[in-house]
Amino acid sequence: MPILSIKEIADIINGKLISRKNNQEIIISSISIDSRTIIEPAVNLFFALVSERNNGHKYIDDLVAKGVRAFVISRSYIINEKYENCSFVIVENTLVALQNLTKWHRSKFTIPVIGITGSNGKTVVKEWLSELLFKKSVVRSPKSYNSQVGVPLSIWNIKPEHEFAIFEAGISKPGEMINLQEIINPTIGLITNLGEAHQENFSSKSEKINEKLILFKQCKKLIYCKDQNFIHQNINSNFELSNVEKISWSFVDKSANIFIQKQIQNNSCDFVAFSGVETYKISFPFKDDASIENAAHCLSLLISEQLADVDTLNMFSKLQPVAMRLEIKDGINNCTVINDYYNSDINSLQIALNFMSGHVRKTNLKRILIISDIKQAGIPDEILYREVAHLSSLNTVDLLCGIGAKISIFNNLFPPNSLFFDNTDRFIDYVKTNDFQNSYILLKGAREFHFERISSVLQKKFHQTVLEIDLNKMVNNLNYFRSLIKPETLIMVMVKAFSYGSGMVEISRVLQFHKVDYLAVAVADEGVELRQAGISLPIIVMNPEEHSFENIIEFRLEPNLYSAQIFDSFFNTLKHNAVINFPVHIKIDTGMNRLGFSTESEIQHITHKMLNQEQMIVKSVFTHLAASDEAQHDDFTIEQINRFTNLSNIITRKLPYKVILHILNSAGIERFSEFQFDMVRLGIGLYGISCDKNAKIQNVGKLKTSISQIRLVKAGETIGYGRKGKAKENLRIAVLPVGYADGYDRRLSNGVGKVFINGKIAPVIGNICMDMCMIDVTGLKVEPGDEAELFGEHISVASIAENIGTIAYEILTGISQRVKRVYLHE
Ligand SMILES: *Cc1c(COP(=O)(O)O)cnc(C)c1O
Repeated sequence: MPILSIKEIADIINGKLISRKNNQEIIISSISIDSRTIIEPAVNLFFALVSERNNGHKYIDDLVAKGVRAFVISRSYIINEKYENCSFVIVENTLVALQNLTKWHRSKFTIPVIGITGSNGKTVVKEWLSELLFKKSVVRSPKSYNSQVGVPLSIWNIKPEHEFAIFEAGISKPGEMINLQEIINPTIGLITNLGEAHQENFSSKSEKINEKLILFKQCKKLIYCKDQNFIHQNINSNFELSNVEKISWSFVDKSANIFIQKQIQNNSCDFVAFSGVETYKISFPFKDDASIENAAHCLSLLISEQLADVDTLNMFSKLQPVAMRLEIKDGINNCTVINDYYNSDINSLQIALNFMSGHVRKTNLKRILIISDIKQAGIPDEILYREVAHLSSLNTVDLLCGIGAKISIFNNLFPPNSLFFDNTDRFIDYVKTNDFQNSYILLKGAREFHFERISSVLQKKFHQTVLEIDLNKMVNNLNYFRSLIKPETLIMVMVKAFSYGSGMVEISRVLQFHKVDYLAVAVADEGVELRQAGISLPIIVMNPEEHSFENIIEFRLEPNLYSAQIFDSFFNTLKHNAVINFPVHIKIDTGMNRLGFSTESEIQHITHKMLNQEQMIVKSVFTHLAASDEAQHDDFTIEQINRFTNLSNIITRKLPYKVILHILNSAGIERFSEFQFDMVRLGIGLYGISCDKNAKIQNVGKLKTSISQIRLVKAGETIGYGRKGKAKENLRIAVLPVGYADGYDRRLSNGVGKVFINGKIAPVIGNICMDMCMIDVTGLKVEPGDEAELFGEHISVASIAENIGTIAYEILTGISQRVKRVYLHE
């Protein structure tokens, strides 16, 4: 993280600096691309990236308001003249500028830099290596930052004190690697393996491997597994690699540079490795194929770098699974617990604190950081904990709890209200008598502190069936639908019915950040809840009921007026409250025969009323399609669209202002985008459900639970109510704590429903009960506590709906409120 003036940066990236003289010396020490994660706005440089699907320039106004003063922007952006205290660097392409700046930064360092690529295992190998290199000061990519954007951001973290760097590089299409090679410029290469992932953009496996190998063209050495014949052959035939020292390892071929004998034990695996001169022994607590391969890569790299000393080899026994995500859970007393089981080091602390800052919206909630001693070599403790104190004050942490002997020694660096504990047990004793309340609590602990124990004390106890919602996938889906419409077309997202079961408030927060234009709820209470949670977007209420009109006005919700009667009574309420120019929406019925004005005369009548009052203004006029997802009704859909064009025109040509017209729901956006009018209304598509099997959207929700009990049932016995499940032979049955009261539909009884457990599909046996159901797991390797997916990646919501003769909407919205929603963020 170098410190440079904006003028120096403009020179490095070859941009044109637009700035008043006195702003040219603005000092920059941090860079960002995401407006949520800026902690020191005054010294931050924001790169407004433009991707197919999102545009960083949209956030500039918000950022100026937050105090950011320096921006890298593209030519097409028109600078607001009021921003006279800001500096703008204009470039052709903001991503290229970001990459060039970090290439420049990389060129300042001569430390060994490991570049890792491959289809699987990159992040695990990187994380394990950084643990194994505990004697060195190591910088590495945060999480799996391995893309065209993630790599530059990672490189920016290299500092003079670092002795080793480890970065991953991921590509999804041809032509991308050369850029990553130039940015990372690795001196040591490692290729993990080559799976089928991301094959779609490559014409062949050879094309893919040759693209990946470009990363290593300037390396001094390259580590790879000789047993992967395809990789071995391509490395040896790739002329760009001719000067690179190739270090192969193998489990079978003694002629490899490093030959490894493995011995799988009960719960671990032992290696004996021979490098020709020496023998190395390790043992590590995993026995699955992927972990074994990853450990072999790490060991080979350490051997080839002469870093495999006794302490380092012993460290293998302490390796842990790598969790790559932050977990957010509901805690006790209105707390939210953010678990970061990721490594405890300054870099990941910064990311997690950023995340917490971005997440806390309600100002009445406190921010608490619970942090253990940090294991980070190369930085003197005092400087390290000073940095922790600095980061937590930048992120306005209200209370810091330090756990461990080291951090306790430096208690004087922290604010006076901070609390310190010798170990995790002491802290847990404290929590038992002193409840935390109304707070966001970030848990950040080195592994030996076992913070999962703290987490289980702080977490609300709930029953173990959860609906897990992947917010990153949801945003990808949003952007997919955005890519189907024109940039200027507005987007409304329907968050009715608890956001299709996914959780209205959480989802709306994410949507607000991603700048959708409107939200829609079914009833006013839902809108009130959103306002109380701090959502400021316009919100339309589809079924405004008379008793809720006062709330609609008070909370600035916008009613859908679908009849003359509701128009009149809303008008009266507005008048009574002396409100004018209140935004309303007019619904036209064009064939659904549900709500709305349907005839010309009704519409003329309502237009006339509108023109003769000042209480309301019409924000939008819309209709709803009855069968936009069914090709057999396409003629009817076109007829609806034509009717809408004609009927809406009656209103809009009379009104003296512009009115938004909209008609398309999710399937409509996919199938009739030429009729997008001024706005579209996205619903189920956001959750990854599409009528188009090839749509580039992903399933967002996963309903999962864990096995309560396994029992053996003898041939001839029956299972569950009504004795519907019959054991024709001896069976092994798993009991799951999920039933029809959770929304696991009873029509899935007796084999109609299937669940996914440990890689296998197993059928429901017998009738589904209210709170439980039974699964036939005969012949499968499953134990109590194992996770079962009821729907998600392996069992699609659409297939469940089809099996019981309903639609995905009913399955999603039927998941009961007692099922906890858990949100995933990358
Ligand atoms: C629910 C709803 C939508 C969204 O429909 P999807 O099929 O889920 O995209 C759009 N418009 C109106 C009026 C709705 O009620």
